[in-house]
Amino acid sequence: MFTASAASLATPLYANSDNWVKISILHTNDLHSRIDPFPLNDPKYADLGGFSRLSSTINSTRNTEENVLLLDAGDIFQGTPYFNLYGGELEFKLMSKMGYYASTIGNHDLDNGVDGLVDQLGNADFQFINCNYDVSQTRLKEHIVPYKIKEIKGVRIGILGVGIELEGLVERSNYGNMIYQDPIFHANRIAEYLKLEKKCDLIICLSHLGYSYDDGRISDQDLAFENKYIDLIIGGHTHTFLEKPVWVKSRFKKQTLINQVGWAGIQLGKIDLHFHKINGDKEISGRNLIVNSLV
Ligand SMILES: [Zn+2]
Repeated sequence: MFTASAASLATPLYANSDNWVKISILHTNDLHSRIDPFPLNDPKYADLGGFSRLSSTINSTRNTEENVLLLDAGDIFQGTPYFNLYGGELEFKLMSKMGYYASTIGNHDLDNGVDGLVDQLGNADFQFINCNYDVSQTRLKEHIVPYKIKEIKGVRIGILGVGIELEGLVERSNYGNMIYQDPIFHANRIAEYLKLEKKCDLIICLSHLGYSYDDGRISDQDLAFENKYIDLIIGGHTHTFLEKPVWVKSRFKKQTLINQVGWAGIQLGKIDLHFHKINGDKEISGRNLIVNSLV
C-alpha cells in the first residue's frame, strides 16, 4: 500500500501496531547566512526566521517526536555580513549544534571558491552529499560523498544529492575544476543502486536544482517525472514557498513528494514517514512550519 496522504478520515493503520516506525524529516534550504531574524520593519518577512528560532522549532519537534532526521538543500552561504566577515564559520557551527545530518552544495556555497568551502568544512559536523558534480580534480574530492545511508530503528534511509549547472551561475574561478554532469541521470543511477543493491526503504534526494522553470532548465519537477525510486525530493535554489509538499507521478508511475520551504529559515519543512517494518508499507505526509517568535 502506498497512499499520498495520511489525511484520511479512517483511523490510520499505523495507530494500532508496534510494527510501524515513525520518522520525522525536518528540512531547510537557502538559509543564506540569515543568522538573525528579519528586522521588524522588513516589508515582507518582518520578525521571521533566524537561526535561534529555527533551533527552537527543531527542538520542539525533537521533544515530541522520537525519530528526527534534519536535512538541508544548499545555499547556506551568502546574504548577510556574517558571511562576508566569517566566511560561513558561524553558519556551519550553528547548524552542527542544531544536529543537521546532511546538506548538498548550492551555487552560493562556492562564493568564496572551492577553497573557501573546503576551508570551512572542518566546522561542519554534517555531511555534504552530491552525485552529479565531478569533484575528482578538486580539493572537494575528500569531502563530498554521492550518497549516505542512515538507519533509524531498522529503517534504511538512502540520501543522495544533486546540484545545478554552474556555468553562467558561478564564476569559473570559483568552481574551478568541478564538472557539472546530468543530474537526472546520476540521481537515477544512485537511487537505483540505493534501492536495489543497498536495500534502502526510503530514498531522499537533496536537490539544489530549483522547483520548476519555464525555459527548459532541469528542475525538481523534471527529476520527479523522470524517476523510479526517489520517494522525497527536498529542494532549494528557487526560494519557492510551497504551501504544502507536492506529489508528482512519474512516467514510470512512481509517486514522489517534492517540498521546498522558501529561504532564510522562514519556514521549516516537516515530512512524516510511517514505515511498516514487516511488509514495507509506507505512508508519507508533510507540512511546512513557520519559524517566528512564537516558537
Ligand atoms: Zn541557489
